[in-house]
Amino acid sequence: MLKRHETSPVKVGDVLIGGDAPIVVQSMTNTDTADVQATIDQVAALARSGSELVRITVDREDAAKAVPHIYEGLLAQGVDVPLVGDFHYIGHKLLKEHPAMAQALTKYRINPGNVGFKAKRDKQFSEMIEMALIYDKPVRIGVNWGSLDQELLTHLMDENAQLAQPKEARAVMHEAIVQSALLSADRAQELGMGPDKIILSAKVSAVQDLICVYRMLARRSSYALHLGLTEAGMGSKGIVSSTAGLAVLLQEGIGDTIRISLTPEPGGDRTKEVQVAQEILQSMGLRAFVPVVTACPGCGRTTSTVFQELAQDIQAHISDKMPVWRARYPGVETLNLAVMGCIVNGPGESKHADIGISLPGTGEQPAAPVFIDGEKAMTLRGDNIAGEFQAIVEGYIEKRFGGECT
Ligand code: SF4
Repeated sequence: MLKRHETSPVKVGDVLIGGDAPIVVQSMTNTDTADVQATIDQVAALARSGSELVRITVDREDAAKAVPHIYEGLLAQGVDVPLVGDFHYIGHKLLKEHPAMAQALTKYRINPGNVGFKAKRDKQFSEMIEMALIYDKPVRIGVNWGSLDQELLTHLMDENAQLAQPKEARAVMHEAIVQSALLSADRAQELGMGPDKIILSAKVSAVQDLICVYRMLARRSSYALHLGLTEAGMGSKGIVSSTAGLAVLLQEGIGDTIRISLTPEPGGDRTKEVQVAQEILQSMGLRAFVPVVTACPGCGRTTSTVFQELAQDIQAHISDKMPVWRARYPGVETLNLAVMGCIVNGPGESKHADIGISLPGTGEQPAAPVFIDGEKAMTLRGDNIAGEFQAIVEGYIEKRFGGECT
């Protein structure tokens, strides 16, 4: 069991972030928030795929006006996922002038580098915190190095230059990111906000910077932390970079909620970022979301496609059935399946799973032994191995997770 960095838990609607609470998966829309229907559809899709909070951009009047309609539209569909408003530049003004929006949102994200400049910065940041206090909403103080407070950075660079042994510019940048978050949190507390209402994030786009900055934040504060690699990128690059950075921090017990900032392909599925976040947490044994299918990679012993097809079929079957299984079979997400390509590792790996099947490799007898709870239970043969295996899985789930009321 990993020891988590101790943080103050923050209640975001019905979702608890920090403390001993499970690490929360969140996501962000990429629709124009002023387009009410498109935003409802995407928030609903993200929530149904498992996002426990969804952030939406509130960048202008039309977006602010749309928020209450989005909130109502989601409730009408039975989707009550907390909505987080992402504000930059004019958040203070929008929150003051659109009370229905301020009320409909469950949390406000404030970027201290983008609340205003020079004399206006402190005033506008304070106004946002005051609105959060009036509406009793938690905030995320979210620093991003792409919009880092330049005054603070310049000040620290100047100080560094005076040192007998100046630090590297990158180290000063890290310090500026961390200070921006911590000084803003101090300011919020001076204004009356408790630590149980403050979440911090400090996003950067390079893995080593991310690890360094979050270690510093964790050492120097006990605020709940939102983890994410910003601008992670597209496809496997975004997934691998995010996983590499987050896995190190999560393993050290750092991080209370995560978001994977993948760039979708044009017209691509936004819910991919939720799936990746869940897979990171599940593969690290931190949470369970769906039954896991362990499959061997295949090799020269799997010259037919039977093995790949069976692994694909059972994975698709789980995805199709999970919305029903989740409600009907509590605990089903902890199920482990194994689909193995031949006799070399097949029986051994299958015995470690709740249910495993070892398919015949090239030159082996056309028979597929099935192992249930570590014991060989039967052998499948013929053309319908996939169908029979699915039926075995369904029967096992019913028996083990069905309870008396199903
Ligand atoms: S279990 Fe068999 S088919 Fe799968 S990778 Fe190992 S040797 Fe190859």
